[in-house]
Amino acid sequence: MKILKKNNELKTYLQRQRQEKKTIGFVPTMGALHQGHLSLIKQGKKKNDLVVVSIFVNPTQFDNKEDLIKYPKTIENDTKLLESVSCDVLFFPSVEEIYKNDISSENFDFDGLEHQMEGKFRDGHFDGVGTIVKTLFEIVEPHRAYFGQKDFQQLQIIKKMVKKHRLNVKIKGCAIFREEDGLAMSSRNTRLSKEQRAASPFIYKTLKKVRKKFGTENAIKVTEWVENQFKKHPLLELEYFTIADEKSLESIKNKESNKKYRAFIAVFAGEIRLIDNIRLKK
Ligand code: AMP
Repeated sequence: MKILKKNNELKTYLQRQRQEKKTIGFVPTMGALHQGHLSLIKQGKKKNDLVVVSIFVNPTQFDNKEDLIKYPKTIENDTKLLESVSCDVLFFPSVEEIYKNDISSENFDFDGLEHQMEGKFRDGHFDGVGTIVKTLFEIVEPHRAYFGQKDFQQLQIIKKMVKKHRLNVKIKGCAIFREEDGLAMSSRNTRLSKEQRAASPFIYKTLKKVRKKFGTENAIKVTEWVENQFKKHPLLELEYFTIADEKSLESIKNKESNKKYRAFIAVFAGEIRLIDNIRLKK
């Protein structure tokens, strides 16, 4: 695996690959890799001649300084994991290499997608995400880029950005990879205490019950039920739960037959913020 830290080194290397008609798959990450990330890379390997993974903890997408400082960094283990799935190139730039002297975000208009859910609770988050993903796309110029449905709103926002800015890349959404007990894999899971980790599968268990309930009850009733479940919980604090249209990400009250819906949740275990979502049947 090639490990490159400079934009120009990566650009030059990939230019040569493109001249040789090789297709490039790209998986942007913030490191502290787990099987969820690896599942994206494996999908990339199947469809492309080479896969580039970036590891960059992007400061502009963190509204919480503490979360940024404490974000786990495990580059040696990450390198081993990437080699185990035959990743071709690791791009591991410094903050300076990406932002030069100006650590700030561009302002994006994602047609309102950015104001829903995470956008309400994480100020400036999606401007930061848009800025880094667009910058990385300009450096890597991938044919296909892989994003997890774990961050479903992010996935929809990236698709919107690609469409609005007419970027020449195909965006592939990949299924959520879970621990055996159902907890969605996340780099932040390693920060959970033993008790918090043991409590966290409750999130996905609740989402599965939501899927059942949504068959017979309306969104308002289901939402109230979820809120009550968490009120009783000693370790997990609900930040938001909502049932939303997959396309507009707007919360719904009543079902319409031609739409697809998903339930979205954000929960605090102490200071660790966990998110998850589930596709709903109509
Ligand atoms: P992150 O390193 O958290 O920024 O994630 C990098 C990419 O991996 C994003 O597209 C995430 O949606 C995706 N990802 C993170 N966790 C999972 C998971 N459990 N299953 C599938 N994709 C994931």
